[in-house]
This record gives sequence, C-alpha cells and structure tokens, in this order.
Amino acid sequence: MNIIQCTFCKKPFQSLGKRICNSCLERIDRDFITVRDYIYENKHASIDTVAEETEVPKQIILYLLKEGRLIIDDPGGGGVLFCESCKKPIQTGRMCDECKHKFANKMSDNVASNKAAPEQKKKEEPHLGSRGSAKI
Ligand SMILES: [Zn+2]
Ligand SMILES: [Zn+2]
Repeated sequence: MNIIQCTFCKKPFQSLGKRICNSCLERIDRDFITVRDYIYENKHASIDTVAEETEVPKQIILYLLKEGRLIIDDPGGGGVLFCESCKKPIQTGRMCDECKHKFANKMSDNVASNKAAPEQKKKEEPHLGSRGSAKI
C-alpha cells in the first residue's frame, strides 16, 4: 500500500495511484460543476474572478484546467497555464496542440522501433479539437 500526501489538503492517505484523497476528489467534483456553470454564464471571466465569484480555491480551478476538464478563455491572454514542453500559454491541459502532436509522434516512433512489427495500425486519434469549448 502506498501512503502519500494529498496534493490539496496535505493529509496522508492510501493511494491507489491518485495524488488526491477521496474527500478532496468529491469536493473537486462539486466545485467543478459550480465553476463550469459559472464559466458558462461568464465566458470571459478571468481565473481570479471565477475564484472570487464561485468561492472555489484557485488551486482547484487550476487543477481542473490542467486536467483539461475546464477551459477558461481569459482575456488577459492566458498567463495561467503553460505548455509543459515549450512554455507557451495554453487554455487547457498540459501541453499546447503542437507539442501534443510532436509528443504523440515520438511515442509512436518508439513503439515502432521497439517492436519490429508495427502490427497495430494507428488508431484513430480522439479528436481533441483545438476548440473544444462547445462541449461545455
Ligand atoms: Zn485531500
Ligand atoms: Zn508546446
């Protein structure tokens, strides 16, 4: 068993691979709905405004953005999330679309050279359209 410290409340808990304890996860799920609804009504609110108005800690909003569950169209030009590879400001997720592509290509190169037989045909990539905002 793995005991680790919860990223949010800093309490130690038994992890099955997650870095967040169950009570925080429940809270994040509730907060997610609050924030999502708020952003739906206020599309151009900055992350600070969202945090203030919804009373959801900025840390949780950032977490949701990184997970790709939220997209904030911050008129301040992002400045909230950055691509982990090229440091370009992004709106959601961990990497910009370009780097995601580069990364995906690298991964499939590795797979191809490790296994001499490229049996698996390239699966259809789930379309993470650059503009997924319609989903929200
Ligand atoms: Zn916790
Ligand atoms: Zn990038």
